Amino acid sequence: MATSKVLAGAQVVLPTGTVPDGRVLIEGTRIARVPVSGAHDTGATVTDAETVDLTGHWVVPGFVDLHNHGGGGASFTSGTVEDVLKGVHTHRLHGTTTLVASTVTGEMDFLAQRAGLLSELAEQGDIAGIHFEGPFISPCRKGAHSEALLRDPDPADVRKLIDAARGHAKMLTLATELPGGIDSVRLLAEHGVIAAIGHTDATYEQTVEAIDAGATVATHLFNAMPGLAHRAPGPIAALLEDERVTVELINDGTHLHPAALELAFHRAGADRVAFITDAMDAAGFGDGRYMLGPLEVEVRESVARLVEGGSIAGSTLTLDRAFKRSVTIDGLSVEDTVRALSANPARLLGMYDTVGSLEPGKDADLVVLDADFDVKGVLRKGAWVVEP
Ligand SMILES: [Zn+2]
Repeated sequence: MATSKVLAGAQVVLPTGTVPDGRVLIEGTRIARVPVSGAHDTGATVTDAETVDLTGHWVVPGFVDLHNHGGGGASFTSGTVEDVLKGVHTHRLHGTTTLVASTVTGEMDFLAQRAGLLSELAEQGDIAGIHFEGPFISPCRKGAHSEALLRDPDPADVRKLIDAARGHAKMLTLATELPGGIDSVRLLAEHGVIAAIGHTDATYEQTVEAIDAGATVATHLFNAMPGLAHRAPGPIAALLEDERVTVELINDGTHLHPAALELAFHRAGADRVAFITDAMDAAGFGDGRYMLGPLEVEVRESVARLVEGGSIAGSTLTLDRAFKRSVTIDGLSVEDTVRALSANPARLLGMYDTVGSLEPGKDADLVVLDADFDVKGVLRKGAWVVEP
């Protein structure tokens, strides 16, 4: 087994720009050398290394998904350990090398139990941590969450979930305008857990208050929150204007009109956007009937909707499709797309020293894309998940 690899001939996207015909040297699980930006690279001649010719391809950092409920027919909220691993693997095949597993609203005891199971997978390095979406969300903006199980964000309950995750709680989405919301944001921030504003009915002013208290993420901006109106700009304006906030966007062509995506991208700037999947079980699997927590979902032509009421219920997106759409339909640059899919979410998770960009010393997590931006290879910690 070759422990060293040279990836040669591709356009390599570095934090400083794209290098045409660059060579990336992988040693073991890490990136050992990347090409120097702005110059053709002829270095990295290593004896013993397996050379992979990637002429005509792109090499970009592995994708980081902050918000993902499942895939490959498996759910992170209800599946067994094997199911969760299957879902994680499905997304890896599509370039997601770092994944935060999201839960949906459930009973407190059930969520604490799920946090226990998921924290073991985080300890093994299979997932990057846990995102709790609900139960502390607004009944007015519940989306595909079970209304009967929603509750106000009592800091004692929030604390219970943080503890159950044994250091692996990365993010919690809440409606910060509910009683206990601001205290819960403070508690999350004190524990180093991202407080994400979402499934919210907050006003502009209430959202500003939550950001001042320490909230730093907008959960799928635009979806499950009041719209932008001229005398009531609501959470969207507050979240977009504040430099401290990163906004999640579901770039699947269903959740957002391209003009809404463009508005967000231009207002927040390329360093404050994170493309997420918000994927459910059907991602990378197919149409059919599924359960999202306790609710039944029908997936038709890749769009997931609640059987009762017809609310959009997560996506069937994989991040490779978000990448391709960003470059070929939204007209964003490859470099800005890499920021939204890798660098920004990695920074937000506090993991940018190991993932999120192609730099020496970081994990050898990368995606090989062809000229049409379809995945041709996925390398995770130096091992091929998809061999080009
Ligand atoms: Zn979600």
